[in-house]
Amino acid sequence: MKEPEYSAMSPAVAKAVEELAAFIKENSLCGLGQTAPNPVLSTLRYFRDEYVEHIVNKRCPAGVCRALLTYQIDPVKCRGCTACARACPAGAIMGSVKNPHKIDNEKCIKCGSCIEKCRFDAVSRT
Ligand code: SF4
Ligand code: SF4
Repeated sequence: MKEPEYSAMSPAVAKAVEELAAFIKENSLCGLGQTAPNPVLSTLRYFRDEYVEHIVNKRCPAGVCRALLTYQIDPVKCRGCTACARACPAGAIMGSVKNPHKIDNEKCIKCGSCIEKCRFDAVSRT
């Protein structure tokens, strides 16, 4: 089955969500229904870029959503000290002593231990 075209579909989905929330707000009979859509409407109004980054670009600029994070090692900065590999609970870091290490993002569980352990600022999170 073909992957859905999220990048093409997302603006339409965001608009549909916005219209649905506005409809619920205007047509609900009780106070709960009239106010429940407010968080959706206000976050869409003020943080639309965040929605686009998460839904279309699959990125969390604030570094909060673990599932969207990617960890990388800069081979120039890496000294091959092995501290990150020893700390990684998923066995996702490969490399030998004094050689640049590499992260297997298929295995990575996004725990962040490697960033904490690296004393050479070689690990980054995007
Ligand atoms: S974030 Fe955690 S699981 Fe992923 S490579 Fe770093 S230490 Fe390993
Ligand atoms: S802790 Fe930093 S310097 Fe040491 S191997 Fe890992 S990335 Fe390289």
